[in-house]
Formats: sequence, structure tokens, C-alpha cells
Amino acid sequence: MDSLSERPGNRALRFVLVMGLAVGSCRAPAPVTIRAGQLFDGRGLVRDVLITVAGDRITALGPYQGGQVTHDLSRYTVLPGLIDAHVHISSTINSHGGMHLRNDGDTPAQGDSARAANALATLRAGFTTVASMGSSLDQGLRARIERGAIPGPRILTSLDPFLDRALTPEALRQQVRTHHADGADFIKIFGSGSKHGVEIPTYTAEQLAVLCGEARREKLRSVVHSQTDSSIKLAVLAGCTEIEHGTLATAASFALLASRGIWFDPQCGLVMRNYLEHRARFEKAGFDSSDFALMAERLALMPGVIRAAAATPGLRLLFGSDAIAGAHGRNAEDLVCWVREAGQDPVAVLRMATAANAAALGLQAEIGSVAPGYRADLIAVDGDPLKDIEAVLRVRFVMKAGKVYRIE
Ligand SMILES: [Zn+2]
Repeated sequence: MDSLSERPGNRALRFVLVMGLAVGSCRAPAPVTIRAGQLFDGRGLVRDVLITVAGDRITALGPYQGGQVTHDLSRYTVLPGLIDAHVHISSTINSHGGMHLRNDGDTPAQGDSARAANALATLRAGFTTVASMGSSLDQGLRARIERGAIPGPRILTSLDPFLDRALTPEALRQQVRTHHADGADFIKIFGSGSKHGVEIPTYTAEQLAVLCGEARREKLRSVVHSQTDSSIKLAVLAGCTEIEHGTLATAASFALLASRGIWFDPQCGLVMRNYLEHRARFEKAGFDSSDFALMAERLALMPGVIRAAAATPGLRLLFGSDAIAGAHGRNAEDLVCWVREAGQDPVAVLRMATAANAAALGLQAEIGSVAPGYRADLIAVDGDPLKDIEAVLRVRFVMKAGKVYRIE
């Protein structure tokens, strides 16, 4: 995972070390220079900037003072690579045009190429890091990207989610440790499940406390799918790290999450729109008209949840599109929705998809900002997304860890 686990606290020191290497070693890569017409650095905006990259890191940042550059992005707005904190990167469309399920006849090679297509679409859309609410299939995809066999975003994965309520506390603890040993970067728990449109908690308070407690001991984040006040409360009391969705939650939950400093990741609508716009694909996977009716109902609630959550003092919000099969590469449509339909300030929305998401993933010293010492994850969009959020849909340049994957 291009050594993301290595997180020296002192960026200044590391910067000196990086520069020292660049000067001292004849094998050091030649610096790459990028001129940005304007730069959103993860916090605010600066105009006409020169960014210097050596290897996979940003090494310098300052005003552009003329001269030749490697990449002239003076017509564009440069941003840190976007981060999506909730995708299902291994959720694919199969060769019959439906949502891929186990045993649908697709060969392993067809699965590999469908997952590679998801990864490429996501990266080309400007998302250089994603957290995948996972599948054990993420592991192979992550490995192929890390060894440079295919292009794709940096992937953090939970591997398979936790949803077996029949397990004893000791078995649950063991499952968390096994996940970690197998390469999970965090764990994903289904804290509530829908039965005929009614949400009920999946795990007991004791089971959740065991799962999130063991994750904490293993230094893994615990991310919980919770839709209602009752299941959110259980997850909060169990000491879990992050709540997903909350589509049926009320202000009481938002205040509780804020008071405990727990991250909250609501979606704006892409996930439901993707189901509704491509019904046939999902009908083949067993979804019926009552499922689609429920999705339309939930879709109508989503922007309101974001408004209420964003109005809660101190609540830490993160951006996760919940992209599944068919929505990979459309992730930024949910950012547009946060502004256009949920009424949020574009600056706050862009901070969330960069610096705030990096902090939520524990990578705030590595990604999500443009500054010396950070990974060279840079994108350029045509237009000013702080005034016209749709600019995030017009990606013209993508660099991940110093390597260019898209330029036009
Ligand atoms: Zn999801």
C-alpha cells in the first residue's frame, strides 16, 4: 500500500530527508513542476502556484515566477486527489449486463477485468484514494494496483463485512483479528438491516461492543452501517469509529455523534439514483418493485439528512458516495448533490472530500492536502469548483503518488 502505514509525525523532518535524498543520490528522480492557475490546497484557494514533485511526494510549493514547467495547468483549478470514504470497488456489472453475483457464470478473468475497469473509472474521475466497504475480492485488486499492474486509486478495504449475528463474543473477536491478519485496513459492520422496509439492529449491544472494542485493540477503525437512531445509539455506546448512512436518523443522533466525536458519512443520492436509473441490471440480481419503491423513498430523504447533520455544531462529516456497480467513476456526482440539493457550501464540501476525509481515514499527514511532504496526489478540473461545483465533473489531469494517469 505504497507504505501508507509508515506515518512519521514530523513532516518538516521528512521533507528535509526527502530533499536530502534528492540532492545526495544520483538515482533520485528529476523533479516535476506543475503550474496551477489556481490551487485549492485542501483548505483554501491560492492563485498561480508552482508545485514541485520529486518521486511520489510534493517537495515545494510557491508562487509561479515564470519559466518552463513540466505540466502547464494554468487554465485549471488544481486540487488534492479526491477521497471517497465509502465505495464498493469490487461491485461490478457482469457479462450479462446485470449486477455481478457469485455463481452467475462469469469467469474469474471476467471478474478481474470488471474490477480493473471500476478502479480505472474511479481514478480517472479524480479519486486517488477510496475506502472500500468491502469484499475479499478487494484484496487482489488492491495488490494489482499496488504493484503497478493496473491503474487505480489507493484502496483501503474492510474485506468482507461483519453481519453474522449468530457468533459468540470470542468468535467475533477472532474474526476481527483474522480480518486484520488477512490485510483489512478497517472493519465494516452491518449495524442495522432492512426487513420489509423496517430497519432493525443486527447485533446486540454486547456483540457490537466486542467488535468495535477488538477493532480498537487491533488499531483498526470500525465503520458501522446504521440507518436509525436506535442502531446509531448502539454503535456509539459500543465505541465504534464511524457511522454510515443514517438516512432515518434524527437530530438527536447527530447531536450524540457530535458529542462523542464520531464521524458521520451520509450520502446525497447517487447510490439510489444508480439503482433507479438501471433497474434492469438490479432486477437480474433479484431486486423487485418494493425494493425500488423503498429506494425512491430513501432518495427523497437524503439531502434533508445532510442539511440537518451539517447544521449540528461539531459534527464531523465525511464524504462517501456508496458507489456500487454502475456508479464507479460517477462518485463526484454526489459532491455536486451536496451543493445543489443539500445546500452546502462548495468550499466545505471540497474540504470534506480532501482534508477531512484524509483525517477520518487517519491519513491526514499523507494525503488530502497539497503541501511539501504530502503524497503527490493532484488533480486538475476545468473551471472553479468553489463557484461552480460541476467543475469537479470536468477532470483534466490526474496524478497519483507522482505518476500521471490522465492528461488532456
Ligand atoms: Zn455501502
